[in-house]
Amino acid sequence: MPLLYGALRLTLIYALTAGLWVFYSDGLLTALGLSIEQMQRWQLLKGLGFVLLTSLLLYLTLRAHLRLHSRMRNALTASEERLSLALDAAKDGLWDWNLQTLKVFFSPGYTRLLGLEPGDLGDSRDSWLHHLHPDDHAHCQQSIVQLLHAACQAPYENTYRLRHRDGSYRWIQARGRLLLDAQGRPQRLIGTASDITQRRADEDSRRQAAAVFDATQEGVLVTDAAQRIVHINPAFSRITGYSEAEILGQQPSLLKSGRHDPAFYAALWQTLQSLGAWSGEVWNRRKNGEIYPQWQCIRAIHDEQGGVSHYVAVFSDISALKRSQHELDYLAHHDPLSDLPNRLLFTERVAHALQRAQREQHGGAVLLIDLDHFKHINESLGHNVGDLLLKAVGERLSAQLTTGMTLARLGGDEFGVLCEDCLHAQLAAEFAQQLLDTLNTPFRLDGHELFIAASIGISLFPGDAQSVEQVLRNVDSALFKAKSNGREGFAFYAQELTEYARQRVELVGALRHALEGNELRVHYQPLLCLQSQRLIGVEALVRWQHPQRGLVPPGEFIPIAEESGLIGAIDAWVMAHACRQMVAWQAAGSAIQFVAVNVSSRLFSHGKLDGQVAQVLAESGLDPACLELEVTESAVMQDPDAAQGLLERLRDLGIRLSIDDFGTGYSSLARLKRLPVHKLKLDQSFVRGLPHDHDDATITRAVIALGHNLGLKVLAEGIEQPQQMEFLRQLGCDQGQGYYLGRPQPAEQLPTAFELPQPLKIPLTERVTQQQD
Ligand code: C2E
Ligand code: MG
Ligand code: MG
Repeated sequence: MPLLYGALRLTLIYALTAGLWVFYSDGLLTALGLSIEQMQRWQLLKGLGFVLLTSLLLYLTLRAHLRLHSRMRNALTASEERLSLALDAAKDGLWDWNLQTLKVFFSPGYTRLLGLEPGDLGDSRDSWLHHLHPDDHAHCQQSIVQLLHAACQAPYENTYRLRHRDGSYRWIQARGRLLLDAQGRPQRLIGTASDITQRRADEDSRRQAAAVFDATQEGVLVTDAAQRIVHINPAFSRITGYSEAEILGQQPSLLKSGRHDPAFYAALWQTLQSLGAWSGEVWNRRKNGEIYPQWQCIRAIHDEQGGVSHYVAVFSDISALKRSQHELDYLAHHDPLSDLPNRLLFTERVAHALQRAQREQHGGAVLLIDLDHFKHINESLGHNVGDLLLKAVGERLSAQLTTGMTLARLGGDEFGVLCEDCLHAQLAAEFAQQLLDTLNTPFRLDGHELFIAASIGISLFPGDAQSVEQVLRNVDSALFKAKSNGREGFAFYAQELTEYARQRVELVGALRHALEGNELRVHYQPLLCLQSQRLIGVEALVRWQHPQRGLVPPGEFIPIAEESGLIGAIDAWVMAHACRQMVAWQAAGSAIQFVAVNVSSRLFSHGKLDGQVAQVLAESGLDPACLELEVTESAVMQDPDAAQGLLERLRDLGIRLSIDDFGTGYSSLARLKRLPVHKLKLDQSFVRGLPHDHDDATITRAVIALGHNLGLKVLAEGIEQPQQMEFLRQLGCDQGQGYYLGRPQPAEQLPTAFELPQPLKIPLTERVTQQQD
């Protein structure tokens, strides 16, 4: 427009000047008073001059115009080139929509965006609309309408999808401007278009990542390469209790719990550096000081040069998980009704105990307890009562457990007990009996008084079985055996054990009863001075007056009493009894100078014997010199140092000590020399062959010589024949004991003034017959 005005103004100036010149030049010439001829000449010159001048002006104007035009064209070309280069570099396209002609220009760059050749889009908007995504038609149309309606030169911006030649849709961002004509009417819409598909995808994923970062339940922590915290997410604050302001710029070591040693962190960094990532369980500390477990994944982030730029740690608080894991584990391994371990846990424990038993070579036992006729309770009183009973049974059985035992409810009315330390069958049997006994008391439940009995199967391991399955199979068949034996009892997997153990258990029970029910008796066997053949003392020997079996010898029940621990009570009872009897004999003026009492090695090894003896002496009022204690050689030699001390304390009480069954154990002669004992009792096994057996004679001779050399008296046990006595007497043996000299008998049958009536003059056969009791 300004160009047009300029041209018009110039033309008008020219026209005015030329018109004035034409108008006034002739008048000027006339005013000069020139002749017609001169006038004609000057007229011609004026005309030529005018033409020349205007031609010159025209030339100059045209030249200036052409130069300007050329400069402008060059500038335009350069600018177009620059624009095109810039658009090309930016991979953008240009579009120009002439709103008057409705023609659209699409630059080659534009068509390239869609994988098309230049010109493929034509010059109409229709082909463009043909490529537009159907979903974008409406909003594209709307934005154009709004723009045209506003009819202002505001920038235009729109995003839509165009179909690429490969069939995919590309996100295009169009930016442009509406050009208006002089009247303000929309004339052109021109702008650029760029493919923002990738950018949009990137933005999408960035937005998604940001949303994930903010919304995730996992705590996220980003540090720079120097391990300063540069970024955290809301979950981090929620888990740790630290706000962004408190933690940014800090080191992650602020969160350390102190539960891990430096080696743990060294290994973590080593993995992180070599593999670029580490994951594992870490115990950290919250702001409030609470220590909690995390599952943490740490990754190193590298920059373009390959150096570490950041570390990202993503972690979750697994304390709840651990808790629920623990709860789940508990549920999986326990019976909900009784709260006892279930079959799964029981089997695991048996497997573990079996391995231990095999490794450490010691024994264990599994007991399978099945309630007899439990079904009837369920059927008659209902399942609620049945459940209550099972619970109560579980509680009662639990009360019997000691360390190293597991009670489990294996299902229904079946319970299992694992005894990890069960050294022999006897213990398992006693424990089974204990469990059966505990169930004997009736249960009072829900207004009912219930009697329930059980059968128990026992399997020992590793003896009976080498695998868990085998142990459980064995115990099952042992239970079957117990049930078929008539219930209310126990059975071992191995038949002979069942019999043996049952007898033993019965015997222990009966023996306990015997002790309480006064069924024990003390018989006294004379001890003679072999030289004078006079009675000098007696040995107290216990017997059991069994109501059915009659008089039971100690050999049948002492070992069981020792195993079951009853021996202490028995020995104490015998000792008290013997001391009182000795006091009575003394009071009656008997020739008996002392009473010898046997002490079990069990009691001896407890080391408290001296206290017990002192108490018995005090209670009975017996002179300590009238009491002799017999301890076996093996009891002394088991722990010679302890024995030495105990024997010394006993000797200090003023009592006499003898070593029983001498020759059957292994004595250290050096030790023997120092023991504060008074007598050796030569075991009857050496006397039996006398006088003819050469070995027995040699041993007897040696023991007598040894005893005498050590300053001890020697007593020979088991003298059954006069020849034996004579032989021993000739060897210098001090004392004797045996059926020939007198059998063990009740105190009242023992003559107060005992004297062997000329023993050697009585024929042997006659003598033996006389001595039988
Ligand atoms: P011991 O202390 O060596 O007692 C001697 C045993 O030999 C007694 O057996 C006695 O009856 C037996 N005997 C005595 N003379 C002869 C004989 O000429 N021939 C044969 N064959 N045997 C003879 P008993 O009474 O059966 O006692 C056996 C063992 O039981 C005792 O051996 C002793 O170790 C133990 N014992 C007995 N009473 C008690 C007691 O009250 N407490 C403890 N702890 N053990 C006892
Ligand atoms: Mg004895
Ligand atoms: Mg003996």
